[in-house]
Amino acid sequence: MTDVRNLIIIGSGPAGYTAGLYAGRAMLNPIIFAGFSSGGQLMLTSDIENFPGYPQGIGGPEMMMELRSQASKFGCDIIDKNVDSVDLSERPFKVTVGNEVHLANSLIVTTGAEAIWLDAENEPTHKGRGISTCATCDGAFFRDKEVMVVGGGDSAMEEATFLTKFCNKVTIVHRREGLRASQIMIDRAKQNPKIAWKLNSKVKSWLGSEGSFEGAILLDTKTGAEEDISCDGAFIAIGHKPITDFLGGQVEMDQEGYILWKENSMTSVPGVFAGGDVVDTRYRQAITAAGMGCMAAIDAERWLEDNEH
Ligand code: NAP
Repeated sequence: MTDVRNLIIIGSGPAGYTAGLYAGRAMLNPIIFAGFSSGGQLMLTSDIENFPGYPQGIGGPEMMMELRSQASKFGCDIIDKNVDSVDLSERPFKVTVGNEVHLANSLIVTTGAEAIWLDAENEPTHKGRGISTCATCDGAFFRDKEVMVVGGGDSAMEEATFLTKFCNKVTIVHRREGLRASQIMIDRAKQNPKIAWKLNSKVKSWLGSEGSFEGAILLDTKTGAEEDISCDGAFIAIGHKPITDFLGGQVEMDQEGYILWKENSMTSVPGVFAGGDVVDTRYRQAITAAGMGCMAAIDAERWLEDNEH
C-alpha cells in the first residue's frame, strides 16, 4: 500500500496525457499508469494531419512524446506499467499494478481501444505472422510484396495508402459497395495506382500453413461465389474495441464495453471519470480524445474540491 493520491490516471494517449497536464497544473500531483505500450494507438500512426496547430502534420509517436513531456513538466508521475485491476467498492479506490496496490481518491480512465481481429477460418495460424492489425508496425516486412487490407473505414484507407510505400500491390477488401471512410481518404486511395479493390467481398478463410501465408478465400457477399486471392500478407483494419476488462464491470458500460458517462465526464461510480476512445463510439479522433481528457481532469478537480479532498 502507498500514500493516498488525489488522482490516478489509467491509460496514456491524448486523453490520458491531456488529463495529466490539466490535473498537474491544478496541483493534484497525479500518477499516470501509461501502460507497457504507452502512448496508445497514435504510437502506431505515421502522420497526423488533422490535429489543429500542425499545418505540416506531425508523426503520432512524436506527438505522444510531446504530450508526455508536457504532462511530466506539470508534475505527473508517469509509470509505464499496466493496471491489472481496480477495486471501486469503497474510497479511497484501490488500483492493483503487479504486486503493488495504489490508493486514490479519484480515478480517470483513458485506456482507449485496441484493434479487432476478423476471426476468419485459420486466423490463429497466421496472427502476427502473415496477418497484422498495424501497417505502421509491420508494413516494412512486406517490401516489394503484395498484400490485402480488410476494411472500408478511414483506417483501411490510411493503412492501404501507407502500405503502397513498400508494397507492389495492395488490395482493399470490403464487405459492402459503399465505403465508410471520409471522402478525402477514399480519393487518396482511389488515385493510388498500386491500390486494387475487392468490394462486396469478405474473407472466408486464410490460406497457407503455419509460417507460410498464401492469401485468402474471399466470399462475394452478393452472389455467394468464392474466389481465391493470393498475396504475401494481410492487414485487418475493421475497427477497435474498448480496453475495459480490468474494470471488472464495476462501472456502467454499453454492450460493447464502452464506459458510459453519467454526469459530465463522471461514470456511474462517483469519483471515477473517463475520457477518450474508451467512452467514444462516435468521434474517435486525437483532438476529441484530448478534449475529453481535459474535461475529465476539470471534473475530477471540481469533484475532489466538493468532496473536501
Ligand atoms: P470504422 O470507421 O468503424 O470502420 C470499420 C470498417 O471495417 C467498416 O468499413 C466496416 O464495414 C468494416 N468492418 C467492421 N467489422 C467487420 C467485419 N467483421 N468484417 C469485415 N469488415 C468489417 O473504423 P476505423 O476505420 O478504424 O476508424 C475509426 C475512427 O477513427 C473513425 O472515426 C475514423 O474517422 C477515425 N480515423 C481517422 C483517421 C484519419 O483521419 N487520419 C485514420 C484512421 C481512423 P461497414 O462499413 O460495412 O460497417
